[in-house]
Amino acid sequence: MDSKKEIIFQLDKYLKLLFPICRSITGKGNRKTLNILNEITPINIFEIKSGKKVSDWKIPDEWEIKKAYIQDIKGNKVVDFSRNNLHVVSYSTSVNKFIYWNELEKHLFKHNSIAKAIPYRTTYYKKNWGFCVTHNQYNQLKENSHKFKVVIDSSLKKGSLTYGECLIKGKSSKEILISCYICHPSMANDSLSGVLITVFLAKYLRTLDLNWSYRIIFVPETIGAIAYSSLNQELLKKIDVGLVITTAGGKGEISFKNSWNKNHYINKLTREVLDMNCKRYKEYPFDFHGSDERQYSSPGLRINCISIFKDKYYEYDYYHTSLDDLNFVNADNLYKTFQIYKNLINTLEKQKIYKRYENIGEIMLSKHNLYPNIGGAIAPNNKITDLDKILKFLFMIDGNRTIKDISEEMNISELEINNMIHILKMKNIITEI
Ligand code: ZN
Repeated sequence: MDSKKEIIFQLDKYLKLLFPICRSITGKGNRKTLNILNEITPINIFEIKSGKKVSDWKIPDEWEIKKAYIQDIKGNKVVDFSRNNLHVVSYSTSVNKFIYWNELEKHLFKHNSIAKAIPYRTTYYKKNWGFCVTHNQYNQLKENSHKFKVVIDSSLKKGSLTYGECLIKGKSSKEILISCYICHPSMANDSLSGVLITVFLAKYLRTLDLNWSYRIIFVPETIGAIAYSSLNQELLKKIDVGLVITTAGGKGEISFKNSWNKNHYINKLTREVLDMNCKRYKEYPFDFHGSDERQYSSPGLRINCISIFKDKYYEYDYYHTSLDDLNFVNADNLYKTFQIYKNLINTLEKQKIYKRYENIGEIMLSKHNLYPNIGGAIAPNNKITDLDKILKFLFMIDGNRTIKDISEEMNISELEINNMIHILKMKNIITEI
């Protein structure tokens, strides 16, 4: 594995290279981004055609933008897409006309409180056009009572949605999902930080002798995750654990969001790793708002996804603005979160999770010669018998608990649990997942 210095150098290089690209839910910017990521570690790139039905959604037409500006009567381009790609509402339709302030105002968006910020807006599913501006630009346009020329040279045509995937195989065919989203234009913490941490984790995983297999995907948020889930539902149904990596490179505090089942072992393991790696961190319960865990935890899939953040989405002032830039995010901060995710993966790799071959009803212990061997008599003094232990253990292994969790809940040593596992494995009653 590369040294710390080398990884920070690479993170910095790719942060600067990827930041300026105009990405959206479809389009050339996403292909360019995936091709650059493919230099870091091999990624398979796929296209899904516009119009294809995916669950309750449809892949939209592909958006392309060449130029966009608002010009005043003197010929000054007061707002220009070439200076910052957040100036145009993503998926804006084409426009080329002269208009007055009354009409222009309806197509302008400014930040509620931060004067110098250009806000980030999209209009993916409603045909419209618009410009996002600073307070200065807004006032400058408002004070000008003459006509303006507005130009958005864009197209919305049948094309495709692009996504990337790599499957890194371990000893077990049982997979862990890692997902990030590639659809945000020039913002560093929201989207890009997650993309970079994910791609460097993929590179790291390829250097390990793995127990689990890892399915790593780079999709546009929401529609991309829905499309992937819909088209790959049979394999996703077999996955229990996911990491949704986003907003992980800011200057602020580390935090983590629990998975939908708060008792699932991934939450305990994350807490364990954070306790070892951070002086303090904030914990958020699961919330159906958020990123693509919304899709992966939907009723048909129910994957337990956690996210570790460094300046979580919604929680920092520069969220969804032009100030979420390379002053706010740097390679040193990205490296800190990368290390935590790396430690979490190393912790996950050590876990052995078991399940029963027969999952319905009690196991018929006598059939397996376990009943007489462990002496079925109920012991005096309300002591738990070996029989009770084995029955309780078989009741508890539902794939949501580690050996440590079971040992704590049953109040018996991990050694004793492991002895029980040994016998039950020999008798083909349980198996490692
Ligand atoms: Zn966002």
